[in-house]
Amino acid sequence: MQNHPEHTPADAPKTTSSSGDGAAADATARNDALERQILADPGRFRVLTGDRPTGLLHLGHYFGTLQNRVRLQEIGVESFVLVADYQVLTDRDVAENLPESVEGLVLDYLAVGIDPARTTIFTHSTVAALNQLLLPFLSLVSVAELGRNPTVKDEIAHSRQSAVSGLMFTYPVHQAADILFCKANLVPVGQDQLPHLEVTRTIARRFNSRYAPGSALFPEPEALLSAAPLLLGTDGGKMSKSRGNAVALADDADQTARLIRGAKTDSTRHITYEPATRPEVSSLVLLAAMCTGRDPRAVAEEIGAGGAGMLKRTVTEAVNEHLAPIRARRAAYARERGFVRTILREGNERANAVAEATLDEVRRAMKTAY
Ligand code: ATP
Ligand code: MG
Repeated sequence: MQNHPEHTPADAPKTTSSSGDGAAADATARNDALERQILADPGRFRVLTGDRPTGLLHLGHYFGTLQNRVRLQEIGVESFVLVADYQVLTDRDVAENLPESVEGLVLDYLAVGIDPARTTIFTHSTVAALNQLLLPFLSLVSVAELGRNPTVKDEIAHSRQSAVSGLMFTYPVHQAADILFCKANLVPVGQDQLPHLEVTRTIARRFNSRYAPGSALFPEPEALLSAAPLLLGTDGGKMSKSRGNAVALADDADQTARLIRGAKTDSTRHITYEPATRPEVSSLVLLAAMCTGRDPRAVAEEIGAGGAGMLKRTVTEAVNEHLAPIRARRAAYARERGFVRTILREGNERANAVAEATLDEVRRAMKTAY
């Protein structure tokens, strides 16, 4: 696990990893083993993932988690996707333009292929029983443990608030409630989420041993990483909705070209794929490779002496071509008035039923079922 996601280069895809780093190799082996288990028995897994409605989804989401979500949905893994509307308030005073952001987020989901008939899409704030899990869960972690979380530290560094709110500090605990309310055991996420997921696993383990010994009421969910678990933005930091460094799925072809033209590279002209030493250039190469289904080393070799200019033209073309059908679908869904509202109403109903059932079990386990 990385200490500071902001300064971590993008990982190499599984197929091309040449890392001698033992920890990275272990993580890749674990991820591969998990992939095999999922393919062998998709019915054994339940997915929960989500996003904060803080802006349009971007290429980091797409290659970091959305593609995996759609793939898992397609092979029959039961899936829940959460619009984390309360969590918008972790790093800002008010959630501005919330209705538009929620609608935009759901349109992004639909555009990439998340199917509301098979995947439950719901808003966090509507599921009261989910939030009831927060109190017992808070009692299961120490303040020191929360203070050590590297992703919370990173998000605090980028926060728009002058002081750290209790909501920000306890972010990983809400996320534990988000994941465990539906007993999800599989979470396709980007690398920044690994420390949070570790907190969820700890809470599940501690809840089980304190209140439900021997019964494993909650599963210990596993993270599923993609080949691009930390895509970098145009400034060389983690591509993020809130940091002004992202290419959004909904951007048009010209905006995309402009953004990629301004992306940070380095002073070495010859293009290579070396994530550890050339993070910005390698993240761009990886992006072109992911869009075209090619090996990033082959993409880098082909560009070679063409330098950053050719790299950026290649990336722009690959991104625009890959996103064209997604952008067209998004525009078509945006014209269907009221569709998003209907999806959320149905999703919220399903999520509420699941949350109530889990809360009943929790109450019985905690001897508070009156
Ligand atoms: P914000 O700036 O508001 O925090 P964000 O861009 O970081 O937005 P989140 O809603 O926090 O997006 O993250 C949603 C999911 O997308 C998480 O699983 C996260 O790991 C993944 N993700 C976000 N950014 C990237 C990225 N640059 N590369 C890979 N995965 C990413
Ligand atoms: Mg984030």
